[in-house]
Amino acid sequence: MMLSLADSQITERTSMPVQKRVIVVGAGIIGASIAWHLARQGAAVTVVAENNAGIATPASFAWINASWGNPEFYFRFRRYAMEGWKRLADELPGLGVDWCGAICWDMPREELEAYADQHNRWGYGIKRINRDGVAAREPHLARPPEFALHVIEEGAVEPVAAAQRMLAGAQSRGASLLYGAHATRLIADNGRITGIATSFGEMKADHVVLAAGAGTVALAATADISLPVETPPGLIVHSKPTEKRLNGIVLAPDLHMRQTREGRIIAGGDFGGSDPGADQQATADALFARAKALLTGVDDLELDFFTVGYRPTPKDGFPVIGQPDGHDGLYIAVMHSGVTLAPAVGLLAAKEILSGKPDDKLAPFRLARFG
Ligand SMILES: Cc1cc2nc3c(=O)[nH]c(=O)nc-3n(C[C@H](O)[C@H](O)[C@H](O)COP(=O)(O)OP(=O)(O)OC[C@H]3O[C@@H](n4cnc5c(N)ncnc54)[C@H](O)[C@@H]3O)c2cc1C
Repeated sequence: MMLSLADSQITERTSMPVQKRVIVVGAGIIGASIAWHLARQGAAVTVVAENNAGIATPASFAWINASWGNPEFYFRFRRYAMEGWKRLADELPGLGVDWCGAICWDMPREELEAYADQHNRWGYGIKRINRDGVAAREPHLARPPEFALHVIEEGAVEPVAAAQRMLAGAQSRGASLLYGAHATRLIADNGRITGIATSFGEMKADHVVLAAGAGTVALAATADISLPVETPPGLIVHSKPTEKRLNGIVLAPDLHMRQTREGRIIAGGDFGGSDPGADQQATADALFARAKALLTGVDDLELDFFTVGYRPTPKDGFPVIGQPDGHDGLYIAVMHSGVTLAPAVGLLAAKEILSGKPDDKLAPFRLARFG
């Protein structure tokens, strides 16, 4: 039997999947990415957050990397996430990722060599360079090292601008953004999480995503979920904007720095920031003096401000991502290196939430590993 146009329209409409309603708690880089990917895949998203740019996110060094010190499975996941930033930059023009590369000499020579050997074997682009090579890449370094690694494919992003771009993208796909809202607890009904209580009242949804950074711990606890997450502090100094002094990320012994799109030199004892100590201003002043001493032609460079961020770090250092066992309707995403990982986490979390099928790429990152 032939269908009339009207019949076929009805058939199409009735066979469309029901739009899932998802609440995302958190508007840092992780909540923003999950919201964008969910909205892009057709979910009805509501972002609920106390602020519109995150808490750890604005205090981040925001280096996008799959650098040394990680087992191969995590290196591969980070690399996959780095590719994700390229996809996201196509989806969201103006995202502002800068594939500037890094110069690295923050370890003894043998360790640098071992890092280069291992990661080159894994397919990461690392070149060994001498003093002239360093000076050619970073002509404003006061004392370029004799030997360094040039890690070609690393980059950085301005994390607040990127999170806001993703949130704006989600909004353009119909997401609602509710800022200034404090989520106080999860609501459960017959063993399923069905919503959240907030300072604006209760909200219901098919799924609740906790992407609230360090705030995830207290919210998960309201459903008796214990998250082994630590929050070490990291202090980063920010200069006033200045002319171009750095071309890429500089990983010197005891000092990591880069120049932001706005022209600020930002630096920490390492990328995770310095220990703020008892006197944060004194720590910031000393750190800024060390950063200046590494550069030439910066006599008039001034410290503008410093940030102290608390890094949401699961105890074994790897992300916690997924639906906790026995808690249908709930999804958790909390991690360090959230800036590097955001595109992969957003994509895979949205797929798992909307399809109900676990993705093997996330298998190492389930909460259940903590027992
Ligand atoms: C100093 C420092 C350096 C770093 N360097 C790097 C780096 O170089 N590379 C890298 O990849 N990563 C780095 N990180 C880690 C990275 O910045 C974080 O992993 C990432 O920003 C975490 O983002 P998030 O969205 O999970 O959390 P956050 O940015 O903390 O956002 C949390 C959100 O949840 C909301 N929220 C919390 N509780 C509630 C509640 N109860 N109700 C409503 N809303 C709530 C907040 O308002 C906010 O919107 C660094 C972090 C720091 C602090």
